[in-house]
Parts: sequence; structure tokens; C-alpha cells
Amino acid sequence: MEFTQTPHPSPMPDNDRIEALKDPGFGSLFSDHMAVIDYDAEKGGWHSASIGPREPIMLDPAASVLHYAQEIFEGMKAYRLADGSMALFRPEENARRFNKSAVRMAMPELPEELFLEACKQMVAADKAWFPSVEGGSLYLRPFMIATEAFLGVRPATQYKFMVIASPAGNYFKSGAPAVSIWQSEYSRAAPGGTGAAKTGGNYAASLVPTGEAFARGHDQVLFLDAVEKKWVEELGGMNLFFVMSDGSVITPPLTGTILPGITRASLIELIREEGLDVREEPYSIDQWRNDAGSGRLLETMACGTAAVVTPVGKVESKDGAFVIGNGGPGQLTSTIREKLVGIQRGTVDDTHGWVMRLD
Ligand SMILES: *Cc1c(COP(=O)(O)O)cnc(C)c1O
Repeated sequence: MEFTQTPHPSPMPDNDRIEALKDPGFGSLFSDHMAVIDYDAEKGGWHSASIGPREPIMLDPAASVLHYAQEIFEGMKAYRLADGSMALFRPEENARRFNKSAVRMAMPELPEELFLEACKQMVAADKAWFPSVEGGSLYLRPFMIATEAFLGVRPATQYKFMVIASPAGNYFKSGAPAVSIWQSEYSRAAPGGTGAAKTGGNYAASLVPTGEAFARGHDQVLFLDAVEKKWVEELGGMNLFFVMSDGSVITPPLTGTILPGITRASLIELIREEGLDVREEPYSIDQWRNDAGSGRLLETMACGTAAVVTPVGKVESKDGAFVIGNGGPGQLTSTIREKLVGIQRGTVDDTHGWVMRLD
């Protein structure tokens, strides 16, 4: 499929853009263009791919996304390598996961090559939007919404796939400080629900628990399993790893209620390469508290595309608080973080073929 190209008639002036890119923050600054591909079940599926000016879209007020929330998304970063070329980190994995989310939400799958092509074309169109700050990246947000005007409850027949880009600064201005987390009494996902799909509804449901965490002075919210309220699942948007003093590392298994993070999958491989034994097995909040107290647990790390790898220093629940290690970043967390960031930036050998060079 060919993408029609319509350059923005009045892109942000160079000076303004360069000024904005000095402190891009996260998620409020957007590049000049967007990718769009439309879908109509009655017109043979995916059609009309374009790269054009980023602008508001027209939606019928009866568009089913507005009523029944058929929406999925991905989050990935384009990096500038040490040699100046642009690259994506394991984008095929995002394409694959996007389609798994689509299947769960009764939405059409998008051919993986089209997903990748749209992302590549966006980076090519908005290369000038790469932030100049150390540790910066161009965050890509591919997503799909149901656009059919229809209030009956059934899967829509029309959809829009889009990619927008947002320059992002270094998530943490100086290294990665340990975060403090609040164990919510709310559940994020139940067995048989949509917890493994990257869909907006999961995030809407996490806003109140996250707000409670913030109100109590924490950085992130922690969710336990919805059935026994005992097993550690994940943070609002990050997966967890527990580093034990006996050289083993535990991460909760993918049982359908946890989002299968691409950073998580990458860390499992990188930690194994350090000679440690990574086990995907259930870990309870009681074990966590006891192991932190006894010293059997050395570190806890949280991971996801946005913050890469982040140490967890403290956990608080209605039953009290506990500190992990000395409350600061641990050894393995720092080592793994540097290794992963190094691979992404092209300063550490990419032995896994994870980095896709774009030019
Ligand atoms: C996206 C996401 C993650 C992290 O996934 P990555 O592929 O590593 O970015 C973890 N948890 C939730 C709920 C997510 O939406």
C-alpha cells in the first residue's frame, strides 16, 4: 500500500521548534504530521494510507469508540543512535502485540508491515522533531479507533489507524531515582478480562487508583490480582522484577491479567545473560514484605518503554510500609538499565537484533 504524502503547509517555524525541543517534557508537544490508514469491512478492509499534517479529525457523534470504547494503542520510541541514524527498538513486537489487542477488542488486525511502514514514514516525515536534549527520543503513539456511526452493540465495521509523534525528554532528569509505590485496593484486571490488551479502558480504570497513590505522595500505583488480592501483578504501566540474594530473579507470569511488556521480555533475556536464573512465577505481597525485611530480597525493578528500568525503593499499603534494600537504586537494576539503554542508543552491541535502523 502506498502512503500519499502531504507535507504540512505551515509547519512550526524552525526557531519555535528548536526552542520547544530544548525541554519537551512528556506527551504535550506534538510533531507536524500524522499517519492515517482507514478500514471499512465493506470496502475490502484497509485502504487510503496517508502521511499528512497533524490536525483534528472529524468523527460522527455516534462513532462507536465514543460509546463502547473500541480503542487500542501502542507506545514506542524512535532513538537517535550514536552514529546519528534513527532507530526503533523491537517494533515488530509492538506490531504483533497491537494485533493481539485488536483480536481481544473485536477489531480488525492490521498487517504488521503496514504498522511498521506507518511508523517508519512518521519518523522520516518528522525527523526534525527529534529532541536535542540528552536522553531524548521521539515517542510514537500508534492507535486504532472504531469510527462507524452505530449505537447497536456489536463490533464496528469502520476504523481508523493513526500514528502521532511526541518528542520526549529524558524521563528522569538525572539517572533513575528509586520510586515509591502505593498498593491499591482497586483491581486493574480480572481473569478473562482485558488486562493483557493495551486498550484505553484499562487506563481509564486506573486513574482513580493512580490519583490515590499521588495524593498519598507516591509515584506509582501497584495492583494485586483481582481474585485472591494477594499476588503482585504490575504497576499502572510497568512490569516488575524481584532480585533475590540467592542469584534468582522473579517476575510475575503472563496469566492474562498482566500487560506483556516488551521491556519485560527484553529484561528476562538480559538478566539471564548476567548468569542469573529468571523465573516467571507468582510472588505475593506478603512474600515481598517478608523478603524485603529479611534481606532475602535485594532489589525490585519496574520496567516499561517510557521510563525503561526504574528501581522501586518503597511500598506502602493500608497495612503499613516497607523499604527495599537501602531504598535507593540497586546494583543489578543499574547494570541492566545501562545495558538496555546502551543497546537502544547503539553504544552496546545489539547481539539480539533488537534495533531496527531506519536510515
Ligand atoms: C505498555 C504497558 C506496559 C509496558 O510495556 P512495554 O512494552 O515494556 O512498554 C506495562 N504495563 C501496562 C499496563 C502497559 O500498558
